[in-house]
Amino acid sequence: MAAYKIIDHTYDVVVVGAGGAGLRATMGMGQAGFKTACITKVFPTRSHTVAAQGGIGASLGNMAEDNWKWHMYDTVKGSDWLGDQDAIEYMCREAVPAVHELEHFGVPFSRTPEGKIYQRPFGGHMSNYGEKPVQRACAAADRTGHAILHTLYSQCLRHECEFFIEYFALDLIMDADGSCRGVMAWNLDDGTLHRFRAHQVVLASGGYGRAFFSCTSAHTCTGDGHGMVTRAGLPVQDMEFVQFHPTGMYGSGCLITEGARGEGGYLTNSAGERFMERYAPTAKDLASRDVVSRAMTMEIREGRGVGKENDHIFLHLEHLGAETLELRLPGITETAKIFTGVDVTKAPAPVLPTVHYNMGGIPTNVHGEVLRPTKDNPDATVPGLMAIGEAACVSVHGANRLGTNSLLDIVVFGRAAALRAAEVMKPGTPHKPLPKDGGDFAVSRFDRLRNASGSMHTSEIRLGMQKTMQMDAAVFRTSKSLAEGCAKMDQVASTLPQIKINDRSTVWNSDLAEALELENLMDCALATIVSAEARKESRGAHAHEDFPDRDDVNWQKHSLAWVENGKVRLDYRPVHTYTLTDEVEYIKPQKRVY
Ligand SMILES: Cc1cc2nc3c(=O)[nH]c(=O)nc-3n(C[C@H](O)[C@H](O)[C@H](O)COP(=O)(O)OP(=O)(O)OC[C@H]3O[C@@H](n4cnc5c(N)ncnc54)[C@H](O)[C@@H]3O)c2cc1C
Repeated sequence: MAAYKIIDHTYDVVVVGAGGAGLRATMGMGQAGFKTACITKVFPTRSHTVAAQGGIGASLGNMAEDNWKWHMYDTVKGSDWLGDQDAIEYMCREAVPAVHELEHFGVPFSRTPEGKIYQRPFGGHMSNYGEKPVQRACAAADRTGHAILHTLYSQCLRHECEFFIEYFALDLIMDADGSCRGVMAWNLDDGTLHRFRAHQVVLASGGYGRAFFSCTSAHTCTGDGHGMVTRAGLPVQDMEFVQFHPTGMYGSGCLITEGARGEGGYLTNSAGERFMERYAPTAKDLASRDVVSRAMTMEIREGRGVGKENDHIFLHLEHLGAETLELRLPGITETAKIFTGVDVTKAPAPVLPTVHYNMGGIPTNVHGEVLRPTKDNPDATVPGLMAIGEAACVSVHGANRLGTNSLLDIVVFGRAAALRAAEVMKPGTPHKPLPKDGGDFAVSRFDRLRNASGSMHTSEIRLGMQKTMQMDAAVFRTSKSLAEGCAKMDQVASTLPQIKINDRSTVWNSDLAEALELENLMDCALATIVSAEARKESRGAHAHEDFPDRDDVNWQKHSLAWVENGKVRLDYRPVHTYTLTDEVEYIKPQKRVY
């Protein structure tokens, strides 16, 4: 193995990722007095959070009466009773102070004429336990994520947090006793490798949308934290639950926010019919995402799609008028023009359900502590390791996330992680020496890939994976499509050792970075399809045609997937059927209709 220059660092806390989750945690850790480093492979304000459009959910009640308990009910119902209700209670209760905190940090929210934070309707958000839609999404026009991310970054700079920008985290440093002791990273700019020692590593590395061919997420959403966890012998949870957003732009997959329907936009088929009225008589176009995505797919399958190939659906905004569009939806008016050539003030936009969000991820408790479930203790934790944001599975979204609940999740649990750290550790605590081989695993993996001289380029293997996932882990799944998907993914994964890297440099080597990312994506894809194949029911985003009903007796449980050398082992852990406090009762499973 080539000799690499390794630079050592020592921190109380190292956060991997500078999206909304990573920045909120970094800020909180700094505030608590911890010597904190934040490692990020892209510049902080380029993290995918920047692309969030529609809003952040909180029952402020600025537009009409609202209550965090109604928000909790909607989130539990949206999750199709797979979410952990202790975590959901925590998030919905904390939502109101979290949004006020963001306001005080300087997020430029849109305003009502009286000067309050503007709130718009969003799918699945209802008042009085499902009665009628309520305006709960706090919005900064259609650039809410942009506003939040920039504000949090400037807040981090106020505290003495150190940023390692364009550093690619490779692998965790694990100790023989099962605790996490730090993380290894590659400085893309000068090729050096870095060994970060920390009492607490916080994974905030985002989702893995790029395991699919068409998705709304950034090219950087490659499940790197998930890969680090699986390589450390830890499981990922509920990976079969992948959210398709109803309105990806036809062709590019770029997102048109659900806020567009919140503002009064609606969908039509080739007959010009507002078909959502048939599928969800109460919530109509604002039913939960899985419901709308499936309805659109049904319309297309039954021959009522629009366009030359009858393969998509129209989203109408033109009736809202140019002025409202300019005020409330300026960003999507612009992107629709660029990516579909349509002027939405005059004509409907062509849209299609597109992969958007990963409900599954690294299992944690409400404090962000990562779980290593055992038979005796399904909630056992890994000392020294936390996960937050889209990388994690707390689980507040269960089988299906409600729009606006992810921006909420990232700030609430980013903050919770910092609060927990302040409870369990003291700033400046001396470090034990690292294990002798600490970091060797990461270096040898880096070296192996850098010198990989097989016969297949990364992009070729990646395309095989993305096409298989798009085809076989789609909006509708059958026993046959899932079994085929597992077999195909097995074959695709078996070609990983054939990978070929053309560029042997250690500096700005995107060839190598993409290969490292592909290994992470592959573990995510395998866990997703194998968990999906095993789940013999339909729940939230997992719609199984051969098992069309939810089966609470056998399947109200979290899937756990361990991935080792391309093989997946499954087990399950119970859903938390209790709340955090006595102020609310456990919401018993009901039929989920909108
Ligand atoms: C187009 C779009 C619109 C959305 N709109 C909304 C919305 O309106 N409301 C809502 O609630 N949710 C929305 N979502 C979902 C929500 O935005 C995301 O789930 C959330 O922002 C994820 O935040 P995060 O901090 O977990 O991860 P990200 O913002 O994805 O950040 C991940 C970070 O990890 C870093 N990273 C990753 N791998 C490595 C590595 N190996 N080494 C170092 N650093 C690494 C990256 O550099 C980045 O800083 C939207 C999502 C998309 C894609």
